[in-house]
Amino acid sequence: MRIVIWIAAGLVLAAGALVAALRAPAVEDALFERALAKGFGRDRAALFDGDGLKIFFCGTGSPLPSAKRAQTCTAIFAGGRFFLVDAGTGSWETLQAAGVPAGRLAGVFLTHFHSDHIGDLGEANLGSWVAGRPTPLAVYGPSGVERVVGGLNEAYALDSEYRTAHHGKAVAPPRAAGLRAQAFDGRGQAVVYEEGGLTVSAFPVTHDPVDPAVGYRFDYKGRSVVVSGDTAYSDSLVRAAAGADLLIHEAQANHMVAEMQAAAERAGAASLAMIFADIPSYHTSPEEAARAANEAGVGYLILTHLTPAPDAPLTQRIFLRGVKEVRRRNVALARDGMLVLLPAAGGIDFTKL
Ligand SMILES: [Zn+2]
Ligand SMILES: [Zn+2]
Repeated sequence: MRIVIWIAAGLVLAAGALVAALRAPAVEDALFERALAKGFGRDRAALFDGDGLKIFFCGTGSPLPSAKRAQTCTAIFAGGRFFLVDAGTGSWETLQAAGVPAGRLAGVFLTHFHSDHIGDLGEANLGSWVAGRPTPLAVYGPSGVERVVGGLNEAYALDSEYRTAHHGKAVAPPRAAGLRAQAFDGRGQAVVYEEGGLTVSAFPVTHDPVDPAVGYRFDYKGRSVVVSGDTAYSDSLVRAAAGADLLIHEAQANHMVAEMQAAAERAGAASLAMIFADIPSYHTSPEEAARAANEAGVGYLILTHLTPAPDAPLTQRIFLRGVKEVRRRNVALARDGMLVLLPAAGGIDFTKL
């Protein structure tokens, strides 16, 4: 018995000594330095190599809060450039935390101007500018994008001046500051970007009363990805997505939203209950998204802009209820940090950053 007591006492003393050692300033500094070297030393060159498309999910949530998801954002890498489709709140932090080289951001494609799609546009502008972006950031969008860009440029004008004054023109050059609107009509399908073998087409979707609202199709080296934007089930999306390798479609589980509406009513939250009653009309249920994917004949379907965010296995099962009956395979829920590869040689690979 006595030996057991001695061993226990020894262990307690050893643990105490270890805790004390870890709290010694020299040890803390060494651990901090190691973490910094690991963080700054990350090599993300592979994102820009190769000859296919790479898709990074920088935000897979919606306006309903989730601790695990930023609001909507999809990054697409092609031929040494990268683009964002939408820049919802929190998404820039997700990109930065993943070590994506911000200075290589070549443009942002906005699907529409709801707040959950533009909340981090200011952050994307500042972050990519001071990381070496050589020109003002091109922001493509349907009519109305000029107002969003004009307003943000004005809102951030003083900040840009402060940054140049503090860090100098080499780090924060005024000629590359700010956003540049690249507006298009948005009410018909049209090529809105074509460079270096990458073609980006916009097509109208159904998000009334938001009009215009668009989705985008990226074609590069024989591979293709379509991002739906926010939409109810949309024939024009099905047409535009025909034969695509990957369809990234928004999804709202209306059966869960109905329960949330009832719960909000019971709790006396009348405004919230009204919002839950309104939103099914302009979003797509997971089963409808699966049907759209089947009709378009796409290779793979990934659901994003998940409403409500299914962050636990239980809610994921409820969210996807009924989908298997429509589409048996090649369907997944997006997660923040997910990286999907579409190599020119074919196939699809899932990984993470
Ligand atoms: Zn949205
Ligand atoms: Zn919307």
